[in-house]
Amino acid sequence: MAIMNIERTAASPATQPTIRDLISPTRWEVWTQRRSAIVYWCLSTIIALAATMVIAVRAPVHAGDIAVLAALAVMGVGQAELGRQVERVRHRIAGTVHINMTSVWLVPAILLLPPALTAVLVIVLHVHLKCRSWYRLKRVSAFRIVFTISITILTCYITRSVTDATGIHGARDAIHAGRAGTGVIALAAVAYFIVNAVIVIPGLTTTDRSVRNLIGGWQDNLLEFATLCLGALVAAAFATLPALAALIIPTVYLLHRAVLIEQLESAARQDDKTGVWNMAGWHRLANQELTRDGAPFGVLMVDLDHFKRINDRHGHLAGDAVLKAVADTIAATVRRRDSVGRFGGEEFVVLLPGLTPPHIHEIAERIRTAITKLKITVLVADHDRHITDLTASIGIATYPTSGTSIERLLQAADTAMYRAKATGRNRVCPTPTDSPSH
Ligand code: GH3
Ligand code: MG
Ligand code: MG
Repeated sequence: MAIMNIERTAASPATQPTIRDLISPTRWEVWTQRRSAIVYWCLSTIIALAATMVIAVRAPVHAGDIAVLAALAVMGVGQAELGRQVERVRHRIAGTVHINMTSVWLVPAILLLPPALTAVLVIVLHVHLKCRSWYRLKRVSAFRIVFTISITILTCYITRSVTDATGIHGARDAIHAGRAGTGVIALAAVAYFIVNAVIVIPGLTTTDRSVRNLIGGWQDNLLEFATLCLGALVAAAFATLPALAALIIPTVYLLHRAVLIEQLESAARQDDKTGVWNMAGWHRLANQELTRDGAPFGVLMVDLDHFKRINDRHGHLAGDAVLKAVADTIAATVRRRDSVGRFGGEEFVVLLPGLTPPHIHEIAERIRTAITKLKITVLVADHDRHITDLTASIGIATYPTSGTSIERLLQAADTAMYRAKATGRNRVCPTPTDSPSH
């Protein structure tokens, strides 16, 4: 499971809070969140604080520990600084929030430092990210940072307890314990991964609590796995030849850039304006569907009605905002395995795999209804304008009855869409039963 750090869901479109918002607790954004999440955030923060106080009193700190803490903090901050440029590009192409690679430094801290000092490192690394990266890229609310810090501190404490339970205490012990020691260092990485993934879940505020959203995509998991492996290597280096740990920094930087390359590839298949597939990307998926197993699938052609009037009345930028909102609405209305593409202008195509005509019709109707309910607020000449009463005409084609190639299916869906226009707009039209079968 991927570690669902809270910042992955922390994209906040809200505007910057004013000083008044900050100093008056009743105006804090946190109170607008789900109640059970608020309770969980408060509880985890209180437990993290209390545990830190108890541990700080109990475990002695030596000068050597402070030196290790300083070295890890310097490397962690340095790596985050190096990664800022990568994050800026990532943000520009995809608007994503910052990748958290702090586990590269936290896994060694767990295995090398008294737990209270690990908490100090967690705070230093996250406050640095907040001030230098998250702040500039996208506003991440203070309560989310506090929750991320609390959960990460608790993850570190629990991970250390798990490794201590083996009887081998930390990386230095592990080095002298031979094979069992290797196992303990690997255990720290695995335990960190699992504990963080599990304890963060009750605090997630994402509206889509699907399994995929909770455990993340395989790319996220792979990245998390790689950072944890590097963390284990840094721990081993610190326990033997500490200066070698610095060699990990270029590796982490390259790992960070690898994510960027993956994102650039995906951006090349995306429509800039709306974020859905562009036609090249959509065609690729549609052709894959065609060659899969001959199962039926549907193609929808969605064309907004009288869209030109929106541009004429509110301007082109408002028109663009409407296109984005419509694309988001269509994507939110269909299933995750369906693919939404922008055909061009104010026309969208939807691929609906594995569905028979009645279900395809039902989804098309759902899209049509969702578009009629849209209310989009746009800023025109410093004033908010609300755009409502949008409608769309939708044509349906089904494989294999309306056609056996993607071009034929698009043609059939387009013809059906024009029939919807001709018969009054704001309606769904299937391909006529007398349409030729190819
Ligand atoms: P109909 O109901 O017959 O579909 O009428 P319509 O006005 O929606 O269709 P028409 O084809 O007459 O006009 C489409 C308009 O979409 C014209 C064009 O300026 C606008 N358009 C195309 N691409 C974009 C875009 O990327 N952004 C904006 N804002 N407008 C666009
Ligand atoms: Mg059109
Ligand atoms: Mg139109």
